[in-house]
Amino acid sequence: MADLVLQNIGKDYGSARAVGSANLTFREGELAALLGPSGCGKTTLLRMIAGLEEPSRGMITLGGRNITNLPAHKRKFGMVFQNFALFPHLDVSENVAYALTIAGVAKAEAAERAHRLLDLVQLQPFASRRIGELSGGQRQRVAIARALAQEPDIFLLDEPMSALDAKLREEMQVELRLLQQRLGITTIVVTHDQREAMTMADTIVVMSRGSVEQVGPPQTIYHRPANAFVADFIGRANFFDGVVENGTVRIGPRNLSVSPAASFIDGAAVRVACRPEKACLDESDSATNRLPARITFVRDLGPVRDIHLETDIGPIIVEYAIGESARPFAVGDSIDLILPPEALQVFPEEAAA
Ligand code: ATP
Repeated sequence: MADLVLQNIGKDYGSARAVGSANLTFREGELAALLGPSGCGKTTLLRMIAGLEEPSRGMITLGGRNITNLPAHKRKFGMVFQNFALFPHLDVSENVAYALTIAGVAKAEAAERAHRLLDLVQLQPFASRRIGELSGGQRQRVAIARALAQEPDIFLLDEPMSALDAKLREEMQVELRLLQQRLGITTIVVTHDQREAMTMADTIVVMSRGSVEQVGPPQTIYHRPANAFVADFIGRANFFDGVVENGTVRIGPRNLSVSPAASFIDGAAVRVACRPEKACLDESDSATNRLPARITFVRDLGPVRDIHLETDIGPIIVEYAIGESARPFAVGDSIDLILPPEALQVFPEEAAA
């Protein structure tokens, strides 16, 4: 398998560390998203993979072959940049054929291959348009077709949707994912948008401050975050700071049961996370971790409501799915909140971002 493997890859700019030491394997044919907040090192990592940035340490191999010092133009990697970097003086098909022509492909064959690629990205009717006469989504498709023209081994995209409006962005995420699956090409996408990563990726690499925090499929990252940073960055979470006491967590005046029991030593400072949709407002009597709460705000979002509550362990937001018999909630109402033990995830406090 032509897996792309990074071993201890890092980059320093002077004394500043942009990427610490990344160990990652990108499996052949998968789509991986590098996800993290601004400045966490995503682009630097992608540029090192592309050969546009020299690593300060570590090794990159493709199918077992060391490519760490191979110049970018010898890597056969296709790249789409944030601003698409298209040639405004060329038309659509010339933009796509350009890379082939300079690689020595005969003009007629380059035109024929450009034609097929424009079919693939559904831009054939626009083949003779100038770049300035295209919409954002069409420009992005030209950039994708151009990057695919040389039949790259690896496809790299840096924030490919950032120039598009929200609706088009969502459509293009699906389109790009379907195209990638059809071609079976190993693809790495840089994004700071978790929905984008979850829509497209087989594997998400969550980064923060130059480090890889967690690697896994979207569902694992969401349901089993490795630490408080990931729980906070992916999806929404309520956080409470507490101290471990006999397998429970003491938060303010309460001991909350957690499942599995907290494995930290008594007295350890921990941070407890609870997804808004996993907290309950039902009325079953037997529930553990039942807390009196007062409603401070109700946000009606259509299919769900966010109920903001004040409790003696702090504020919490509960996401309540609105069924046929939607319960009325009013600001000022007293209500029982239940935090099921299995809905609470306990992280060591020092991992908190
Ligand atoms: P964004 O989402 O804002 O593009 P990013 O996660 O892609 O951010 P990088 O662009 O990889 O982050 O930058 C990582 C760190 O390295 C940042 O602190 C940045 O300021 C620094 N950095 C990036 N390029 C250079 C450079 N050429 N010289 C010095 N520092 C750099």
